[in-house]
Amino acid sequence: MAEDTPLIVRVAVLSPLRRLFDYLIPNNVVEAWPDCKAEVGCRVMVPFGRREVVGLVVEHITTSELSVDQLKPVNRLLDSGPLLPSKLLTLFGWAANYYQHPIGDALFGMLPVLLRKGEPLPILGTRYWQLTNKGKGLGSDSLKRARSQKELIDRLLSDGACADSILVSDFSRAIITALESKQLIESFQHANPKISTQNILKQDALKLHDSQRLVLDSIDQHSFNCYLLDGVTGSGKTEIYLQAIEKTLRYDRQALVLIPEISLTPQTEKRFRDRFNVPIVTLHSGLTDKQRLAAWTSAKRGSAQIVLGTRSAIFTPLARPGLIIVDEEHDQSYKQQEGFRYSARDLAVSRAHKEGISVILGSATPSIESLNNCATGRYNHLILSDRAGTAKQPNWSLVDLKSEKSEAGIAASTLSAISQTVEQGHQVLVFLNRRGFAPAIICHHCGWSAECHNCDSRLTVHRARNRLICHHCDYQQRVPHLCPGCQGQELISLGEGTERSEEYLEKCFPQTKVLRVDRDSTRKKGAMQEVFEIGSSGEPCILIGTQMLAKGHHFANVTLVAVLDADSGLFSPDFRSHERLGQLLTQVAGRSGRGDLPGRVIIQTHQPQHPLLEMLIGSGYSFFAQQIMSERQITQLPPFRHMAVIRAESDRANEAETFLRTARNIAERINHPSPLVSYLGPLPAMLEKRAGRYRFVLQIDASKRSILQILLDALIVELNLHKDARRVRWSIDVDPQEM
Ligand code: ADP
Ligand code: ZN
Ligand code: ZN
Repeated sequence: MAEDTPLIVRVAVLSPLRRLFDYLIPNNVVEAWPDCKAEVGCRVMVPFGRREVVGLVVEHITTSELSVDQLKPVNRLLDSGPLLPSKLLTLFGWAANYYQHPIGDALFGMLPVLLRKGEPLPILGTRYWQLTNKGKGLGSDSLKRARSQKELIDRLLSDGACADSILVSDFSRAIITALESKQLIESFQHANPKISTQNILKQDALKLHDSQRLVLDSIDQHSFNCYLLDGVTGSGKTEIYLQAIEKTLRYDRQALVLIPEISLTPQTEKRFRDRFNVPIVTLHSGLTDKQRLAAWTSAKRGSAQIVLGTRSAIFTPLARPGLIIVDEEHDQSYKQQEGFRYSARDLAVSRAHKEGISVILGSATPSIESLNNCATGRYNHLILSDRAGTAKQPNWSLVDLKSEKSEAGIAASTLSAISQTVEQGHQVLVFLNRRGFAPAIICHHCGWSAECHNCDSRLTVHRARNRLICHHCDYQQRVPHLCPGCQGQELISLGEGTERSEEYLEKCFPQTKVLRVDRDSTRKKGAMQEVFEIGSSGEPCILIGTQMLAKGHHFANVTLVAVLDADSGLFSPDFRSHERLGQLLTQVAGRSGRGDLPGRVIIQTHQPQHPLLEMLIGSGYSFFAQQIMSERQITQLPPFRHMAVIRAESDRANEAETFLRTARNIAERINHPSPLVSYLGPLPAMLEKRAGRYRFVLQIDASKRSILQILLDALIVELNLHKDARRVRWSIDVDPQEM
C-alpha cells in the first residue's frame, strides 16, 4: 500500500445501527474499476460482518477512530458518479437524524429497490418509441380488446415519440413488446433531445382571473420561497400549478409535484399530461421495481421534466431542480407512519431551501402548522377565495339525528334530498367513514358481542363476504348462526357501515346505479376505473364511500353531498381530530356543485348545535382554523410546542409500560420537567391491545425544536443500551400526526 495518506470513506449501509462505517479505498480497487468513482453519493461494495453489502459513501475523511490497519478495504466500486447530489445527501442525512431513524436504513429506503441491491444505474435517454406507418394508419376500432395497447398507441399518436424510460412507467414491458411484434411501433436511438421552449404546451393555458393572476405573479421562482396557496376547492389552484410549472420549464428547470394519491386521482395526472408536451414521469406504489428505477433515473438525469409522485417522491434527485409543489398539503398521507417517520411536506420545504428554489404548498383546507407558518411570516400566504368557473360555493345544512327517523344511517330528510337529486338527473356522494356492513354484532337475548381475541375491539360484520373481520389486525371468522353465549338465534348487526347503506340505497333506488368506494370495493381490479367513468359521464348515480371518495375527484354533475356521521370526529381524544373534521367536511363539501349546477351539502349529526359545526358552516374553514389555532396556543399544543412520542408494545402488558417509565426517568434526568420540556405518560394507547400486543405511549414536548432534538439524541443512545430495549418493540415519532 502507498505511503501517502490513504483515502478513507464513511459509508452508510442498510442496517438498524445508528451509525456510519469507515472503509479504505485501496489503489488496486480504484485501478480495477477505472470507470467508477468513490465520490460522496456513490455506492461501494463492502465487507460487513460475514456478508458483502452495498454501501453509500457519505463522507470522505482523513482520519478514522480506527487505525489504518484496522480498517477494512472496500471490495468494489459501483457508480461512475454520485446517485444523489451532495446537497441532497446532506439534507437526507439530516432528516434521518431529525426523525431519529438509523441513517443507513433511511438513506437506503430513499433509493429505488434495484439500486439498493447494487444494480447499475440504467443508461437512458437513448431509446425512443414511435408509431410505424402501420401503427399510424390504425383505425379507431382496432385493438378494442386490448385497452392498454390502444392507450399506448393513442399516447404515441398525441406525443409523437416517447422515451422508453418514460413509456415503461405507464405501460408494462409486455404491452410494448406485443405492439412491437405486431409492427405497430418501433424504437429508434436519439441523443437527449433539448426541449424546445416553443412547444412546451400541448394545450393552451387558461386565461387567469385577476385573483389567480395576482397569485401567479407573486410566485418568485428565482430563489427559495415558500408559498401557502390557500384556495377553496375549485378556485383554480391546479391551474396555478400548471402555469407556474410552465414558467419553470421555460427556463429549463424541472418541477417536482407531490400529490397524496395517484391511483385515486388519475384526473390530476391527466391534467398534467394534457397540458404539457414534455416527458412526465409518475412515481407511486403501483410501479414495478424496474419502472421505478427508470422513472427515478430519468428524473435524476434531467430527461423527465415533470416528476409527479406520492410521499416518497420527495427523495427523487433532479438534475435541474426548479420548483416543488405539494398539493393537498394538509393530507395525512405525507407523513410516513412507520419505520422512517418523515413528513414529505416538511421535507419539501427543507429541500427547496437547500436547493435554493421555491415551493408551493396548496390546499383548500391548510394545516394549522402551515397557517401558523404564514402568521409568523415564514411562509407567504396566497389566498384564492372564489371558485374559478361558474360554480358557486355549496349550501350547507345540518340534519339532527335525534329528531328524525333514520334507516341504515340515512335520515328520512336526507333520503328525500337524495331522491330529488337523482330525479333531477344529478349525482350524489354519500360519505360514511366506516367500511363493512355493521361495526358490531350482538345477541338480542344475552348481550354477547363478537370481539377480537387479539385487540380491544369489536369485529365488523362484512355481509358480502359473510365474515366478521377485525379492522385492526385483520383477524377473520365466519358469521355465526347462533349466539356462542346462549345459542340464541337473534343476532343483530348493530350500527352501519358503507355496505349496509349501499344495500339500503339500492333498495330505495332500484333504477339508479349505486357504487361503493372503500378499501373492500376497490380491491377488485378496475373498480376505481368504473367509478371514474360513471362519475365523469355525468349519468345520475349515487356514490357511497369512505374518505377515499373525498380525495380530489372532480365530477361536474354532483350536486348533493351527504355526510352520514359527523359525530365521531367531534369526540375523539386526538388533539388533531377537530382540525381533521373541519378539513374532511370542507373537502367533501367541495365535491358538490363543481360544474354549472349549484351544490348542497347535508351533514347528519346528533349535535347540530355543536359550536365547531356552527362555526365551520357559518364562517367557513379559515375562521374555523383560526379558532383552532388560538385553542392550540392556549393549551400549548403543536405547532406551539414541538412534540415527539415514544411508542412501545409488548406481549405482556406491564413490559411496554415499564420500558416507557424507564424512558421517562432517563429523559427527566437529562432534562428536568420545566416549562421548556414536559412529559406525559406512559399512557395506554388509544387501542391498548392490538394484534395481541399491549401498547403504551410516552409524549414529550418542548418549547423549542432544538431542545427536543438534543434531548432525543441523548435519550436514544441510553435507551439503546438499556436491557429492556430488546424486550419490547418501540419506536419514536417526531412531529407525530396521529396520537
Ligand atoms: P382547484 O385545484 O383549486 O380545485 P382547479 O384548478 O381544478 O381548482 O379549477 C377548478 C375548475 O375551474 C376547473 O374545471 C378549471 O378548469 C376551471 N378553471 C380554473 N381556472 C380557470 C380560469 N382562469 N378560467 C376558466 N376556468 C378555470
Ligand atoms: Zn346470546
Ligand atoms: Zn384484532
